[in-house]
Amino acid sequence: MGMIGFYAGSFDPFTNGHLAIAKKASKCFDKVIIGIGYNKDKTERISKTKMKQAIEQVIKDESLNNVQVVLYQGLTVDKAKECNASILIRGLRNGTDYEYEENISAINEKIAGIDTCYFRAGDLGYLSSSIVMEVFNNGKPIDKFVPKPVEILLNSL
Ligand code: ADP
Repeated sequence: MGMIGFYAGSFDPFTNGHLAIAKKASKCFDKVIIGIGYNKDKTERISKTKMKQAIEQVIKDESLNNVQVVLYQGLTVDKAKECNASILIRGLRNGTDYEYEENISAINEKIAGIDTCYFRAGDLGYLSSSIVMEVFNNGKPIDKFVPKPVEILLNSL
């Protein structure tokens, strides 16, 4: 079965920054599962089912053959375990991300004994889903910030 990594997020929408992390992870693990989480503290901007389909198209376009997408509610660690993942994957853009992620990772390790692997955002560290939506909602092109299937989805809304 090999080493399975679980990359959780809201992906609302999935950006080129998320894609960069998924690509890095796909090289390091036998299998990567992108988990689109339903987070009750965040209002959903885009349908999760449609975002799942768009991400699946991105994976096809990029030939990321060991990457899969799932939707989940509840605790990330529960879904990760259900998927037989042995590690969580997150991306780090800056120190603020690190502090936020560290707390979540520590809790996850304590409650489920599952560790987190961080990948660096590198030169896409300026990108966030909310910034992309801000640009999009103000009528500016977003083709530089999101993969094509996500751009198509947003333009269809
Ligand atoms: P969440 O609501 O769970 O934070 P996000 O979809 O905002 O979900 O982010 C999912 C993960 O991707 C987080 O670990 C976040 O730090 C990371 N991430 C977000 N944007 C980028 C980016 N531009 N480059 C690298 N990682 C990113």
